[in-house]
Amino acid sequence: MDTITKTRLELLARFEVLETKADILKAPELKKLFAEIPKLPVDQRSAYGKAVNELHQELQQLVETNKQTSIVLPPIDVTAPFDINCPEPKILARTSASIHPLTQEIAIICDIFYRMGFTAEESREIDDQYHMFESLNFPKGHPARDDYDTFMTVETDGEGDPLTAPAHTSTMQNRILRKYRDTLMIDEAIAAIVPDRVFRNEDLDARHEHTFYQVEGVYVAKNVHAGMLIATLQTFLEAYYGKKLEVRVNPFYFPFTEPSFEFALSCPFCEGDEAICKVCSSEGWIELLGCGMIHPNVLRAAEIDPEIYTGFAFGCGVDRLVMMKYGIEDIRHLESAKLDFLKQF
Ligand SMILES: [Zn+2]
Repeated sequence: MDTITKTRLELLARFEVLETKADILKAPELKKLFAEIPKLPVDQRSAYGKAVNELHQELQQLVETNKQTSIVLPPIDVTAPFDINCPEPKILARTSASIHPLTQEIAIICDIFYRMGFTAEESREIDDQYHMFESLNFPKGHPARDDYDTFMTVETDGEGDPLTAPAHTSTMQNRILRKYRDTLMIDEAIAAIVPDRVFRNEDLDARHEHTFYQVEGVYVAKNVHAGMLIATLQTFLEAYYGKKLEVRVNPFYFPFTEPSFEFALSCPFCEGDEAICKVCSSEGWIELLGCGMIHPNVLRAAEIDPEIYTGFAFGCGVDRLVMMKYGIEDIRHLESAKLDFLKQF
């Protein structure tokens, strides 16, 4: 093989791996071929020079072609809603996605409570028995513990008790009371809600789901009474359903409130005078939630003196509120991830 052919093959191979393709024109081997020309016998110079020039032109051509074909693609942003390498971005149509109805409604619920001076706290996905029961005046062995069909883990807490998936948002009461109790010293109330997920080992049907949402409310200050609890809930529900409502309370029992109430509201959908109302079974009233004045032992567990401060607490099922608002007949739709259901929101 002659020198030019050998050099050509070497340079073509190198060209493939060069990052800056134009560097091939500065290759020392190429310069060396050109430098040979004047040293050759006159009769060979013309043919040799022509061949070297042809190689130079070939390489130049390659560099030019490469410039045109190799467009440097920007890195792909996998979080972008369209392919950024497409000349015309194809943005997903608005109808292809929406915020989950529960998320939308929790934002509305939070907004109403923010305007009433409450702050919002997040709950946990796993909690201990102290926050689930003891801090809420359910001592060990308390029969009411059995009313909560809790999911337990095989792992245990410091006391040797299994951890649990919170069965109510009240698990946050002790933490909220401790976190904000200093505000009581400057005569500001503790006012917080917990809109979050809870879990129960339920038999599933149209009204029972293993995973659902509650909004917990906690309010503590001096001279808090049950009238303030009822007014707060009534104000919230009237804002949420956008109409005047009647409310009523019946005595009930919860270990963490004393007195405890079952809270009912007049049906926002039928006024009780329609022959068939699926929401209230034409009774005109809906038993909605449990509430009451915070038990002194719950305040003591957070080192708040119940002789000076009193408070109220409530726990309301968010899914239930949303189902009534939109006439959703089966709670299982909400966790189903079924598109034909979700596309309606
Ligand atoms: Zn009704």
